[in-house]
Amino acid sequence: MLNQKQLQNFAELAVRVGANMQKGQEVVIRCDVQCAEFAHLIAEKAYRFGAKFVHMQWRDEVLGRINMLGASKEALTEVPEYLLAQNKYYIEHKVCLISISAGDPNIMKGCDPDKMKASSLASMQANKEFRAATMSNLLRWTIVSIPTRAWAKQVFPDADPEEAADKMWNAIGHIMRLDTDDPTEAWRRHIDTLHRRAAFLNEHNFEYIHLTNRRGTDLRVGLATDHQWIAAEELGQDGIPFTANMPTEEIFTAPHNRKIDGKVVNALPLVNNGNVIDDFEITFEAGRVVDYKAKVGYEALKNILTTDEGVLSLGEIALIGKHSPIAESGILFYNTLFDENASCHLAFGASYPTTVKGGNDMTERQLAEHGMNQSLQHVDFMVGTKDIDIDGIGYDGSVVALFRDGEWVI
Ligand code: ZN
Ligand code: ZN
Repeated sequence: MLNQKQLQNFAELAVRVGANMQKGQEVVIRCDVQCAEFAHLIAEKAYRFGAKFVHMQWRDEVLGRINMLGASKEALTEVPEYLLAQNKYYIEHKVCLISISAGDPNIMKGCDPDKMKASSLASMQANKEFRAATMSNLLRWTIVSIPTRAWAKQVFPDADPEEAADKMWNAIGHIMRLDTDDPTEAWRRHIDTLHRRAAFLNEHNFEYIHLTNRRGTDLRVGLATDHQWIAAEELGQDGIPFTANMPTEEIFTAPHNRKIDGKVVNALPLVNNGNVIDDFEITFEAGRVVDYKAKVGYEALKNILTTDEGVLSLGEIALIGKHSPIAESGILFYNTLFDENASCHLAFGASYPTTVKGGNDMTERQLAEHGMNQSLQHVDFMVGTKDIDIDGIGYDGSVVALFRDGEWVI
């Protein structure tokens, strides 16, 4: 368990390094009712650093399950007007958003996949504008994560609940660098290293990234025209930096959605809407999925890959060395925020407009011309095994080694 000082530091990281809230700003905290105490700490910190007002968007995953079991498909796909109005208010008031992502990875086990798909599609449609506002950095936002009992129990199945929660807090404390004297300073240094590597990749402006390993991955991922690699800190449209994911270890950009060829095998399970998908491989041709197999969770994978046209291509490629504290912990968190930072990953679906130069000012058509992928989905899956080799291939065919045996060599 973390002590009070460490929890305070954690809340401060969310407000100052994460969302980088500015004096006089409104804050929205999104949080499951189980994490109320930590949300309150963040709210207090926000006021300490000059927030104008803190709004709370309570989530309740247990009610989510009760609704999924009890409500009709029709009822689950109706989106109340007030939710749309609320999103509109948040966008107009340029709030900064702090999400606390925590939950039971298996909460939806046994629910009707058809209902789940319809409901998540309806909510994605309803939140389209709000999501566009965060994905384009119109709003500054961050996601942090804390243990819940059910989650800890899944991660440490052999420990009793108390002990499991304790282990989770310690692991997250280490990953968040809360066991250092000055976590904010430790994060500054870490962010500098990531930025140095991103600058190297941007100088080289590779045409392709080539991934290979002994599990059978041999994939050439073309990069979007005028792509840019982004790490840790991004710039809001107002020019103020923020760190969207806490923790973050990744350096990422946009693939070109017509230039992806070969086969990729997953390195870690993919947890999506309470389903676990594992032992899967995906084959691409000319940027599109042409074949997929999964030994675990095939139906759930199929559900993702039939959402829309765009989900059949990639919207993100992200590089992470195997010596990141998350990877070194060796813990499978069953939570994308952590697991995606443990391993190089790709994402089915939408790309971030910020990963192409001038992307925020482009029309959908212009983005598409650059090879930027569009979809309602953005689903990360982990491909970075401990033995992965990664090369950058230039427009002139030159090859630069980026990773050997799972770790950066630049
Ligand atoms: Zn990522
Ligand atoms: Zn992603």
